[in-house]
Amino acid sequence: MATNRTFTMIKPDAVANGHIGNILAMITNGGFKIVSLKLTQLTVADAQAFYAVHSARPFYGELVEFMSRGPIVAAILEKENAVEDFRTLIGATNPAEAAEGTIRKAYATSIGENAVHGSDSDENAAIESAFHFAGREQF
Ligand code: ADP
Repeated sequence: MATNRTFTMIKPDAVANGHIGNILAMITNGGFKIVSLKLTQLTVADAQAFYAVHSARPFYGELVEFMSRGPIVAAILEKENAVEDFRTLIGATNPAEAAEGTIRKAYATSIGENAVHGSDSDENAAIESAFHFAGREQF
């Protein structure tokens, strides 16, 4: 995978609250090209695996329950400096600390239910993209 790509999920809270369209608009208006896109749902086992890095954290059980409770949108995005620029666009993990104009400022409701995921490194972007999309689905 090229390093000008990142992986995102619109999380179950934002999907349930009807924000898919507005969040995708913020993403494309932010200069990101959508190269893969699907509506899907994580099983408990999927969510445990996706967030395995957090398995020792006190919020892991809550995070797994939340991320598997309803549909999500998974997408791969392309832009120069994609990982870092997308982290800027989504804002701080805790919406109380998220900057104006960020997706989490607009749509997150709590530190756990924070509307969107964005990969934190090129390496993780590639791993997370492969978790959700077959090679033939990555355009
Ligand atoms: P980010 O998604 O901003 O990279 P982390 O990698 O630290 O944040 O955490 C992964 C996800 O775990 C967060 O997006 C959020 O949904 C959840 N999370 C993080 N910290 C907490 C917390 N203190 N309480 C509940 N959920 C949390």
